[in-house]
Amino acid sequence: MPALTELQQNAVGELLRVAPVAVELGQRFAAAGHALHLVGGSVRDALLGRLGEDLDFTTGARPEQVQVVLEGWAEATWDTGIAFGTVGAQRRGFRIEITTYRAEAYDRSSRNPVVSYGDSLSDDLARRDFAVNAMAVALPDWKAPDAFVDPYGGMDDLAAERLRTPGRPEDSFGDDPLRMLRAARFASQLGFAVLPEVVAAMAAMADRLEIVSVERIADELAKLLLGAHPRAGLELLVDTGLAAHVLPELPALRLEIDEHHQHKDVYDHTLQVLERAIALEQDGPDLVLRLAALLHDIGKPRTRRKEPQGGVSFHHHEVVGASMARRRLKALRFPKDVVAAVTLLTELHLRFHGYGVAGGKGAGQPGTSAWTDSAVRRYVTDAGDELDRLHKLVRSDCTTRNRRRAAALAAAYDDLEARIARLSEQEELGRIRPDLTGDDIMALLGVAPGPVVGRAYTHLRELRMEHGPLPRDQAEAALRAWAQEQGLPLP
Ligand code: ATP
Ligand code: MG
Repeated sequence: MPALTELQQNAVGELLRVAPVAVELGQRFAAAGHALHLVGGSVRDALLGRLGEDLDFTTGARPEQVQVVLEGWAEATWDTGIAFGTVGAQRRGFRIEITTYRAEAYDRSSRNPVVSYGDSLSDDLARRDFAVNAMAVALPDWKAPDAFVDPYGGMDDLAAERLRTPGRPEDSFGDDPLRMLRAARFASQLGFAVLPEVVAAMAAMADRLEIVSVERIADELAKLLLGAHPRAGLELLVDTGLAAHVLPELPALRLEIDEHHQHKDVYDHTLQVLERAIALEQDGPDLVLRLAALLHDIGKPRTRRKEPQGGVSFHHHEVVGASMARRRLKALRFPKDVVAAVTLLTELHLRFHGYGVAGGKGAGQPGTSAWTDSAVRRYVTDAGDELDRLHKLVRSDCTTRNRRRAAALAAAYDDLEARIARLSEQEELGRIRPDLTGDDIMALLGVAPGPVVGRAYTHLRELRMEHGPLPRDQAEAALRAWAQEQGLPLP
C-alpha cells in the first residue's frame, strides 16, 4: 500500500515532467479568462507515478473558445469529440484532450447522456465515475496551496487502494451502467478493492448493462483482461452477475463438483490457467493468449457426460468450445484476426494430450512418444502463426496438484518442443510446401492453369506432410501415379 507521501512525490515528479506543456497551456487559458485543470485519469496516474503522454484537462471554456485558445500553440488539433465537448490537440509529443465542464442529465433508457455544459469544476467532478478519478490540479499555478482539488477523498482511496463512487453507487450506475464494468476494469488494472456497497449496487443493478452498447462492453472487457490483475476483475464480474451480460460462458464453468471429486472445478481451473499463461508472456500483455486461456474449456459444460463406469467425460469439448468461442468473440465484435486465433487455440489445446504414450492419459513419458513425425508436422502446420501461443496455453493448462504428473507433463512438452525444433531444422517446417511447384505440375501433366493443378498441389502437400521431403524423382512419380488414379491423360 503506497504511503501518502509516496503518492505526493510521484505526483510532483510527473507534474514537473509535464509542466513545460501543462503550465504553458494553463497560462494561455488564464490569459483568455478561463480556468484549466488537469483532471481525472491523468491526476490519478500522476499520483501513481504512471502518467503517460495522454493528458486530460477540463475547463469552463466552451469548445469553440478552446479552439481559439489552442490556435498558434497546438501542433495539431482534432474535433472528433466536439459533440461531447472535447477538443483534442498535440504538442511536444503529448496528446491533449480538453473537455468543457459537464453537467449532463441522463436519459435512463440509453447510455447516451444529453450533453449539457456545466459551470463549475465541482459539478464536473461530481459526475465522474470513482473518487480516484475525480481529482483535479489547477493550472498554471499547480504549486499553489489550493491547486489540488479532491472533494471525494480520492487521494485517501488511492493510498488505501480502494474504489468508490463520489455519490451513492446506485445513482451513479443508474446514470451510466457502463461504470459497473469500469469498476471491474480498474480492479484489474490497479489491483484496488471495490467497496462492499459498490459491489452490492453492481449486483443489484447488473441487468441495467443491457442498455450499454456491445462495443463499449468489449472495450472494457479487453482492458480488464489486459490489466495486471484480471482474476480480480473477472471474479467481480462473475460474483456480481455482470458476467452473465458480458461473457455468460464464464459463470457457466462453475460446474458442481461430483461426489467423487472426479474433476476439478472448471471455473477455478480456468482462472489458474489464465494466471499461468500470463506468467509465460514475454512481450507484455497478450490479448489473444489471455482470451484463449479464459475460453479454452468453455465447451466443457455442454459436453459433460456421466460415464456408466463412473467418472465424467467431456468428449470433443475443444471442438464445441472453439465454435462457442468464435460465436462469443464475434458477437463482441473483436477483430477478425483475434477471433480466428482464439478459436484455433481453443480447438488445438487438447491435441498434445495424445502425446507421450498411446492412449492419451499417459502423456508425459519422454522417449516413449507415440506421435509420428507426421503428427508433429501437422501440429506445427495446424497451429501456424499461433504455435508460440499454443505452447504457452498447453503448458498453462496443466494445473494438477500432483507434482509427479505435472513434472511428467512438462517434460513431455519439452520433448515435443525439442522434436519440433529438430524437425524444423531438417525441413523448415514452418513453410511446408509440396516438393513440386505449380509450374512443375503443369509441365509434368501437360495441363493449363485450372482446378486440376490445385488438386494436384494439395495432394503433393499432403504427401509432404505425411512423409517429409521427397527427392525430385519420387515426387514426380507420385504425381504421375496420382494423375493415373484420377484418370487424367498423361503427356
Ligand atoms: P484509461 O484512459 O486508462 O482508459 P481513464 O480513467 O483515463 O483510464 P477514460 O475513459 O480516459 O478513463 O476517462 C477519463 C476520465 O473521465 C476518467 O478518469 C473519469 O474521470 C471520467 N470518465 C470516463 N468515463 C466515465 C464514465 N462512464 N462515467 C463517469 N466518468 C467517466
Ligand atoms: Mg484516459
